[in-house]
Amino acid sequence: KQPIHVVGGGLAGSEAAWQIAEKGLKVVLHEMRPTRETDAHKTDGLAELVCSNSFRSDDAENNAVGLLHAELRAAGSLIMKSADANKVPAGGALAVDRDGFSEAVQAALEAHENVEIIREEVTEIPSADIGQVILATGPLTSPALSEQILKATGEDSLAFFDAIAPIIHTESINMDKAWYQSRYDKVGPGGTGKDYINCPMDKEQYEAFIDALIGGEKTSFKEWEENTPYFDGCLPIEVMAERGRETLRHGPMKPMGLTNAHQPDIKAYAVVQLRQDNALGTLYNMVGFQTKLKYGAQSEIFRMIPGLEDAQFARLGGLHRNTFLNSPRLLDEQMRLKALPHVRFAGQITGCEGYVESTAVGCMTGLFAAHQALGTDIAPPPATTACGAIINHITGGHIDREDGSGPRSFQPMNINFGLLPPLDEMPKHPEGKRLRGKEKTRLKKQVMAKRGLDDFKAWVATV
Ligand code: FAD
Repeated sequence: KQPIHVVGGGLAGSEAAWQIAEKGLKVVLHEMRPTRETDAHKTDGLAELVCSNSFRSDDAENNAVGLLHAELRAAGSLIMKSADANKVPAGGALAVDRDGFSEAVQAALEAHENVEIIREEVTEIPSADIGQVILATGPLTSPALSEQILKATGEDSLAFFDAIAPIIHTESINMDKAWYQSRYDKVGPGGTGKDYINCPMDKEQYEAFIDALIGGEKTSFKEWEENTPYFDGCLPIEVMAERGRETLRHGPMKPMGLTNAHQPDIKAYAVVQLRQDNALGTLYNMVGFQTKLKYGAQSEIFRMIPGLEDAQFARLGGLHRNTFLNSPRLLDEQMRLKALPHVRFAGQITGCEGYVESTAVGCMTGLFAAHQALGTDIAPPPATTACGAIINHITGGHIDREDGSGPRSFQPMNINFGLLPPLDEMPKHPEGKRLRGKEKTRLKKQVMAKRGLDDFKAWVATV
């Protein structure tokens, strides 16, 4: 059998190579460092953590990323095994000694009889005659390979910045103040005329909001990020506010074509629109609200918006250098590039976000490729699992809209419970009392986490 080639020895690539090798198949891992560096990596070790040393919460019973840890452990993940072996105290989080962690990953791969590691930059997408290929070159994919990926996927299919607008759990939006309506009640293909959630502002609220945006604390670009042009059509919201107090009222916050369902006679001075973000309808994103405000400032300022006073954010906004594909359009559910099916993608380049999520996509993609080579194709894990929910988000759970937002609306995302299907039945209070607020949310998460882990263990037993 031909070996499977994995390009990029980061978190996703190392995990994918491990999963393939553990299935008894030969794998060649190509890593460009140290022959070529990235702007963020500092060592030549495999699976280097480029920033924080935390894998976030390790609480598998209450937290979505904790659930992802548990699923990866159940799948025999090398990244999780190396993290557990190099744990440092961090409360409920799983944080690691970054050097020990990277050394453990590298040592395990070097010692594996099925793994060959080549230190070279891959500058072209390998052709089909070398067999299956997994590209896991991350958010800082080298320029030569990025260009080839751009050629293979098309101009508008590879983004170099993520312009992330905050995403909110739908159930935390106060619909006594907000209402459903598309601008001018427009009904596009698959739409209902009520596709957006609208939050109204009067003049006073708008002025206070603009002051808060301008005064809010911002994060700055890293030096190397400043050199990448990004600004067409995705200016941070606070930069728009700085350009003129009326700019937002004529841009993403324009009130035209919208009638407040609660007060039809009063014309809103400005309106914040939220658009459905996942097929389940459990998440909505704030349209046009990409931002470089600090996280604390974002929660405070965006909760000034009528209807969002108690908003729970599935993710806050951001703007970073990142390379990622328009995966829902380009990849099939096995993470294969539809146009070149011998090529799979894995890790952050597919539009997941974070160390653990990149690892999970690497793990799944490695398993898909290995099973294809063995002639025993497998289906992805169910969407009730954290791994399945990420694959679903990347490959198609995300909706495309008629208003041109389709390809642009796909943005990298951390795992969160909003990506999992809601429960068929609400959990009951152990003493039969009525469940509300935080307690209801906590119990729901616990039931979803248990459902996820049970379903994942059942799935992994079949592979
Ligand atoms: P990587 O871990 O970056 O691995 C990709 C590998 O491919 C690298 O080793 C690279 O050298 C190699 N490579 C690239 N091009 C080629 C080529 N042409 N040929 C051969 N090899 C190649 N996530 C978090 O959870 N916490 C954080 O604190 C965090 N901080 C981040 C900070 C920055 C600056 C960036 C850019 C991202 C950060 N992320 C963070 C997001 C993400 O989780 C990490 O980038 C993560 O490492 C992604 O894993 P990956 O395997 O997809 O890519």
